[in-house]
Amino acid sequence: MTTAFIYDPIFLEHITPSGHPERPQRAEMAYKVLEALGWLTRDGLVQLPPRAATVDELATVHEREYIQEVVAACQRVAEQEAAGGRKTSFFATDTYVSAKSYEAAIKAAGAPLTAIDAIMRGEVNNAYCLVRPPGHHAVRESAMGFCIFNNVAVAARYAIDRYGLERVMIIDYDVHHGNGTQEMFYDDPRVLYFSTHQAPFYPGTGAADERGEGAGLGTTINVPLPAKTGFETYEPVFRQFMAPAADRFQPQLILVSAGFDAHWKDAESGTKLVAPEMYLSTAGFAKLNQIIIDLANTLCDGRLVMVQEGGYHLEAMAGCVATCINLMLGDDAAVDNFGPAPQLPFRINTDVLISELRRIHGLTGYRMRNAPKPDRERLRREVKGPDPDEGQCSNEEIS
Ligand SMILES: [Zn+2]
Repeated sequence: MTTAFIYDPIFLEHITPSGHPERPQRAEMAYKVLEALGWLTRDGLVQLPPRAATVDELATVHEREYIQEVVAACQRVAEQEAAGGRKTSFFATDTYVSAKSYEAAIKAAGAPLTAIDAIMRGEVNNAYCLVRPPGHHAVRESAMGFCIFNNVAVAARYAIDRYGLERVMIIDYDVHHGNGTQEMFYDDPRVLYFSTHQAPFYPGTGAADERGEGAGLGTTINVPLPAKTGFETYEPVFRQFMAPAADRFQPQLILVSAGFDAHWKDAESGTKLVAPEMYLSTAGFAKLNQIIIDLANTLCDGRLVMVQEGGYHLEAMAGCVATCINLMLGDDAAVDNFGPAPQLPFRINTDVLISELRRIHGLTGYRMRNAPKPDRERLRREVKGPDPDEGQCSNEEIS
């Protein structure tokens, strides 16, 4: 296996005000952990510098006027800074820009394009893009929720426009709903947007009955989950609902909005701006990512691009990034400093949840042709907590 790791120090120059959770240290810490592990030079890992997305590429999902607004806002901060003023300035809801934010943002949007090129040319199997600013809240005409350009959406359109792909799946397990991504492809049958997220929560979208419209009806899939949901719900949602949905769609490429803010350490250390309450552990994230990797291997020749979104506890996020890369390279150990999530105060009836999701999306009785089989051996080794076998049955038995 060959995995591209795509990163650029310019991502550290998108500066937010002191105390803002989306800070340069996020990418810096993840990079340092990879460096300390010696994984940046390990066999199979190829470091690629991201290219910048062009204005035309950004304009496939954003209004040109908005792109120019970003350029102008960065210019204003540069002038303000040169005159001895602050280095960062308010731009849109919760979103700030600094002098270099545009440069960082076009590389953040360009990183998955570099990844797609390398994968399509057969140079690598898959790729991890450690980028910031994140992207999935950015809408056509505006920045939103720490996001400037919608990196994963630009990438989906690029794969379609440049390589003629007809079916691209975006899996978004960031704790927040990717409202921007959903909106950009709401009527587009070529992109299957699948999101798990805490609800009710920021940004307020992502109800289960938001399923797309027109030709895109059915290619938006939302799994809103209550606060304090843990791995024992996420895992069956992934295996018994996401996997058959992916199998039915038959993606030619899988893009992941890889946000790690559903980590239990984020729940413990939430700030005023970001206070998620989910209970995934690093090992739990590892299992979910392994399901995605297995799906990519089964359905689309391993073509998989992970693109960084949220995750605000520095060490937890860094561990999740490193773990993801390890899994993509075909290894199976989690880089986990924190261990299992605290015991949950309640347990969701996942059987009811999944049968309802399958009903809403016409998957009741769907039989998997190619579904990856659960590796229960490994599950037991990695994930502490309730017995993963308990109360579950295989995909074939669900109807
Ligand atoms: Zn998030």
